[in-house]
Amino acid sequence: MDHITSETLFTRAGHRIPGGVNSPVRAFKGMGRAPMFVSRARGPYLFDVEGKRYIDYVGSWGPMITGHADPDVLSAVRDRLEDGLSFGTPTAVETDMAELICEIMPSIDMVRMVNSGTEATMSAVRLARGYTGRDKVVKFEGNYHGHVDSLLVKAGSGALTHGEPSSPGVPASLAEHTVTLSYNDVEGVRECFREIGDQVACVIVEPVAGNMNCIPPVPGFLECLREVCDESGAVLIFDEVMTGFRVALGGAQAYYGITPDLTCLGKIVGGGMPVGAFGGRREIMEYLSPLGPVYQAGTLSGNPLAMAAGIALLKKVRQPDFHKRLTERVNLLCDGLEQRARAAGVPLLTHRAGGMFGIFFTDQTEVNDFAAATGCDVERFRRFFTAMLDRGVYMAPSPFEAGFMSSVHEDEDISVTLEAAEAVFATLT
Ligand code: PMP
Repeated sequence: MDHITSETLFTRAGHRIPGGVNSPVRAFKGMGRAPMFVSRARGPYLFDVEGKRYIDYVGSWGPMITGHADPDVLSAVRDRLEDGLSFGTPTAVETDMAELICEIMPSIDMVRMVNSGTEATMSAVRLARGYTGRDKVVKFEGNYHGHVDSLLVKAGSGALTHGEPSSPGVPASLAEHTVTLSYNDVEGVRECFREIGDQVACVIVEPVAGNMNCIPPVPGFLECLREVCDESGAVLIFDEVMTGFRVALGGAQAYYGITPDLTCLGKIVGGGMPVGAFGGRREIMEYLSPLGPVYQAGTLSGNPLAMAAGIALLKKVRQPDFHKRLTERVNLLCDGLEQRARAAGVPLLTHRAGGMFGIFFTDQTEVNDFAAATGCDVERFRRFFTAMLDRGVYMAPSPFEAGFMSSVHEDEDISVTLEAAEAVFATLT
C-alpha cells in the first residue's frame, strides 16, 4: 500500500469535497502549502497522519480550552453513549445545561441550544427582528458571526454604510438591511443611530474581535453600544461564540462589565461537539416558539451526548483560578514572542484577552480596526506560519484569526514554541 501523507489525502479529498475541506480556513489557502491531516490529538498536541507532533494554538478553533481529548469530557460522553444518541424528546441533561449557562452568565435568563455558532447568531438576529418589529441589523467590519446571509456583509467606506453582499448568493434586497460600521469607532456608531436608530432591530458585535486577528474593544466602545441600544430600543447582541468562557468565565460581558440583551455561544459550550446556544432576557426569549411567534427549531438540538460533553467542560472551566492560569500562559507566550521579535529586529505587536491572543507583524503602534488589521504584513505572517509549522508549532493558518491557549500548555511547550519563534524570526528580517 502507498505511504499515506497529508498531501495525498488532500488531493484525494479535493475530488469529492470542495477545496478538500468542510470549512474553508482548513485549506491553508494563501499559506503556500497543503494542510496537515490530523489523526489524533491529546492535551496541547495534534498528531498528523505521518506521525508528526504539533504544539497546537488553534484548539479546534476554540473548544479545546482544557486540551484535546480531555479525559473528563471523554468519560462524560462515554457514560451516556450506551443509552442512545438522540431521542427527539426533552431530556434532563438539557435543563442541566441551561441552568449551568444561566448561572455562569447572569445576563441570560433563558437559553435555547442549537448545533453551531452560525445557528445561534442566525436565530438571535431573527428573534431581535421579531421582538422589535424592525429589520435593520448593525454589525462591524471584520467581525464574523458565522455564514448567516444577513451577516455575510462587508463594509463599504464611511461611518454609515448601507450593506452590499460580500458573498454571491446573498440577495442585495436582504443585505440592504445590514449596516456595517467600523469596529471601535464610537463616533460612527453614534452617527448611525442619530440617522436610523429607530429602524435598528439589533447591534451584533464580537465583544473582543477574534476574526480579524484578535482586537479587544477600546474603552468606551461597548459602553457606547449599550447606550445607543437603550436609547433606540434596539437589542444588543454579544456574539460570544469565541469569547464565552474563554476571555473570562462569564465571557467578555463579565470581563468588561457590559450587559447585553442576548448572547450567542458556541465552541466551548459543546466541549468539542457541534453545539451552539443563544439566550438572554426572559422578555425577549419568550418571543420564541412555542411560547411566542418567532420560529426556531432543530432535530438534533440539545443532543444528550453533546450536552454531556459541554457540561463536563464547563465544570472544569469553572474551577477557581482557571482563567488566571490561562492568562498567565498567554502572557508567557506573548511576552516571549515580543521580546524575541524585538531582539531580531522584527516589528511585532501582540494583543491578549484572557485565553485569546493575536500576533501582528506591523510597526503600527495600535491595531484597533479592520483597516489596521489588514494593513499588517501578510507575507511575513505566511513565512512565520509555515516555518513554525515545519518546526512543529501550529498557529492559526491566517493572519486574520485569533490564537487560542489551553490550560494544559505547560511552560515546556511554551519554551519550545519560543525557541522555534526565535529561529524563525532570524529568517524574517
Ligand atoms: N461567531 C463567532 C464570533 C465565531 O468566531 C464563529 C466561528 N468561528 C461563529 C460565530 C460561527 O460558528 P460556527 O462555525 O460554529 O457556525
